[in-house]
Amino acid sequence: MAELTLQQVKHRLHASRHPSLTHFEIEAKASLVHEILRLKQKHNVVILGHNYMEPLVFGLSATEEQGDSLGLSQYASKTDADYIIFNGVPFMAETAKVLSPDKKVLIADKTAGCSLADDFDLAEIDKLKAQHPGVPVMIYVNSYAEAKAKSDVCCTSANAEKIAKAMPGDKIIFIPDILFAKNLEEDLKGAKEVIYPGKDSSTKGAICEVHEKFTLEDLKNIRASFNLPKGHPKRKVYAHWECAPDVLREADFYGSTTQIRNDIVKRVKAGMLERAFVASECELTSNLAQEFPSVQFWTACSVRCRHMAKVTLEGVLRILRAIDEGKDLSPFEVTLDPEVIEKARKPIELMMKLS
Ligand code: SF4
Repeated sequence: MAELTLQQVKHRLHASRHPSLTHFEIEAKASLVHEILRLKQKHNVVILGHNYMEPLVFGLSATEEQGDSLGLSQYASKTDADYIIFNGVPFMAETAKVLSPDKKVLIADKTAGCSLADDFDLAEIDKLKAQHPGVPVMIYVNSYAEAKAKSDVCCTSANAEKIAKAMPGDKIIFIPDILFAKNLEEDLKGAKEVIYPGKDSSTKGAICEVHEKFTLEDLKNIRASFNLPKGHPKRKVYAHWECAPDVLREADFYGSTTQIRNDIVKRVKAGMLERAFVASECELTSNLAQEFPSVQFWTACSVRCRHMAKVTLEGVLRILRAIDEGKDLSPFEVTLDPEVIEKARKPIELMMKLS
């Protein structure tokens, strides 16, 4: 395949007419993007891009390399690439490693955290199991492999309800997201009891520090300011599952990142979406605005995940240069104990089977 030139990269970036990219930004960063794409091609590297990446980082990934954390990990397990760079936070790269234990999974910043995964202590799982013996433990994919290894089944925000219903018994322990658990409890009312950390004071759960920022009042103000009345056939307010229950009830549609995107695809194809607001990470909206230019999106630019923001063009280039120069990759490589991989794989595989 012919090597990309800097001029071609600049042309491509300008031609994309990305609503969040200025002419100055493109001119300033094009040589970095060019060098990354050159090395990506030279070394047969897959660069996976989570939807919350800033536009220039997100654009390093081909369309099939973009998506949510589970979709990307599944893609990683099917590729024959020698190296996988996961542009996301470490728990996501861990899932890719669990599904592809023999591949080199690399990440630009191993210190990038996540309030959901970091603020949840493994001891809480043991406590919940002891308090509710025999009740299956369902864990949100936004968690570290060690926590998954102690759970029975995994879930995403797109399939949680279905997986919970498919598990035996009339109760389910859901960890670690408290707001997600409350939303699940609402949706499963009458079908299954949801036990979660933080439901009483004996255990402690976690919250996504990005999605918890949205309040009911915010959504009402956004509806009024941007003329997005509830029930309007072509103007929609979307909310992510990790937002609070009253925010979800106020939204016209709620779901996972992928479900929100799929609803937008469906509406755009049918000519049924002219204006939208998405209560989620603001770079998700930037990337949706690029993908769906016919829709006017409003953003909440202060709602940026500080952990995801640690993945930069410079960080990605550092990995590729290390590959190119045959240097030690351990500063970037995600490694897991083989026993943890083995145990964490089971709940992920069960989820795939049940969904
Ligand atoms: S948006 Fe950031 S804090 Fe929230 S779940 Fe994702 S990585 Fe974690």
